Amino acid sequence: MPDLKLTQHWSPSFDIRPSHFAVDMLVLHYTGMRDAATALERLCDPKSKVSSHYLIDEHGTSYQLVQESHRAWHAGDSHWSGEKDINSLSIGIELVNPGHELNYTVFPEGQMIALENLIADIRTRHLIPDHRILGHSDVAPFRKRDPGELFDWHRLASKGIGLWPIRKHAMDTNKTALKLGAESTQVAEVQRCLAVFGYQLEKTGRYDTDTEKVVIAFQRHFRPNQIDGIFDQVCADKLLDLLNQIE
Ligand SMILES: [Zn+2]
Repeated sequence: MPDLKLTQHWSPSFDIRPSHFAVDMLVLHYTGMRDAATALERLCDPKSKVSSHYLIDEHGTSYQLVQESHRAWHAGDSHWSGEKDINSLSIGIELVNPGHELNYTVFPEGQMIALENLIADIRTRHLIPDHRILGHSDVAPFRKRDPGELFDWHRLASKGIGLWPIRKHAMDTNKTALKLGAESTQVAEVQRCLAVFGYQLEKTGRYDTDTEKVVIAFQRHFRPNQIDGIFDQVCADKLLDLLNQIE
């Protein structure tokens, strides 16, 4: 186990984790703020009513803000696999990064190494399956983009953390491309598969804006080089591959 150095910087924003919830999910965020000091101030300000269990700055310095046994307030209105109270079953990790609205940037090596060490450490205490290591945008696709397409999920999976599609995929991206406005049994099947994977999506058969937002969240995580909201054959292959890995 790598040496984990944590600086304690407690936040007042937490409450009791209901006893019938076991921690079995990690939710990764970016802070979307100018720097670590600003983010720490906000996450520890009682008036802001937001927090996370951990924060890792761009150099890899790791802070603990809330005890794991407590419920931190990081996920907000979120949903995964039929569960709405994501804060109660998860541990939230904030990564210092200015985010899409400021000056979105790659997550530096030191920060990624610190994150990998922290997750390995958390997993010595909680059984967290790979398919439940998610981004905020996965559990809140209608309102969140973090940690975003510059976050290297592929690298994380190569270290045994989280899922990544492993098979070779079709290069033909247009054959069965579905997009906003489509209405078919094929659309219903895509919605069903995305919901089985965990996303909050109803099976209506209509490729509406909610469907497009979920597809964008899926792409941000699993196909970061093409985020267009169009569900093409590459997306289909990746989604089926991922479903096979969790079955
Ligand atoms: Zn977030």
